[in-house]
Amino acid sequence: MTWQERFSRQLVLPELGEPGQRRLAKARVLVVGCGALGSHTAMALLRAGVRQLILVDRDVVELSNLHRVAAYGEADLGLPKAEALRQALMRVDSQASVEARVTHLGPREAEELVPRASLVVDGLDNLESRYVVNDACVKHGVSWIYTAVLATYGMCMPILPGEGPCLRCLFPSPPPAGTLPTCATAGILGPLPAVLGAWQAAVAIQLLVARDEVLPGELLRLDLWSRRWERLEVAGAPDCPCCGGREFEFLESQPPYERLCGDVVQIRPLSPGDLDLEELKERLSRLGEVKLKGGVLVAEVEGVSFTVFPDGRALVKGVGDPARAQALYDRYIAR
Ligand SMILES: [Zn+2]
Repeated sequence: MTWQERFSRQLVLPELGEPGQRRLAKARVLVVGCGALGSHTAMALLRAGVRQLILVDRDVVELSNLHRVAAYGEADLGLPKAEALRQALMRVDSQASVEARVTHLGPREAEELVPRASLVVDGLDNLESRYVVNDACVKHGVSWIYTAVLATYGMCMPILPGEGPCLRCLFPSPPPAGTLPTCATAGILGPLPAVLGAWQAAVAIQLLVARDEVLPGELLRLDLWSRRWERLEVAGAPDCPCCGGREFEFLESQPPYERLCGDVVQIRPLSPGDLDLEELKERLSRLGEVKLKGGVLVAEVEGVSFTVFPDGRALVKGVGDPARAQALYDRYIAR
């Protein structure tokens, strides 16, 4: 199994050739979010020869993910997505260096991971985390690709700090909580993330091997159902607080809880620590059904589902109100 053989179909491409292939091998790509979009992107990049990847995701694989995520199967249900994706990637290239981080990408994690990356690709399902990524990338001068999918449409825009617009030039402020549709309420067409993931991976490859050919702020918008697409050129906003004013407010603070896609609220402990999940399992098993799989505890108590991670973070499903979710967390999880 030689390098030349593995990449033979790519080495003959004049756009890549051997110099391009070597650049891909040297790159380290940070994949934020390992659902459908992130996993399709990561898989395409690994297969293309990006052999250093950092995967970040806070969630576990659920049955409702399988209609659109090619990397996961039934055996992965309940496994943290970052770990399930790492295993899928290692089956393709056992010599690759793939780091799985099962965590929420907050300011602390963004400040740690973004400077280590040559490039950041988007697999996120919420805008709040994208503002954190955007702040960290502009602050540290790391390029990233904004990509989003919902229902039957998607968009993608490369963000090159110092050379073009950032995410806040496009969307100046996050919309109020609960006003945006999510994949749980609006749905998602199964093949859509594969299309946008492939587009994002192609832009990523070009950024890594032929950066001059990428137009900063070139926004693709497409609707897969009507098969309509358009290319727009987004201009930098002269009054942008992030890339203009270099104010990184999303790296400053973090609310203790937030509403995620679907009827899910994420609770973060005030100071993350190590939780003894075996002990928690024993305590909660008197109140409901509790399982421990892949280092993550899942409990059904009072008709509410808790997914608890070793750092004390929890996803609470079945309660719409974040304050009520926080109260249940305090009652059952935190001591
Ligand atoms: Zn900006």
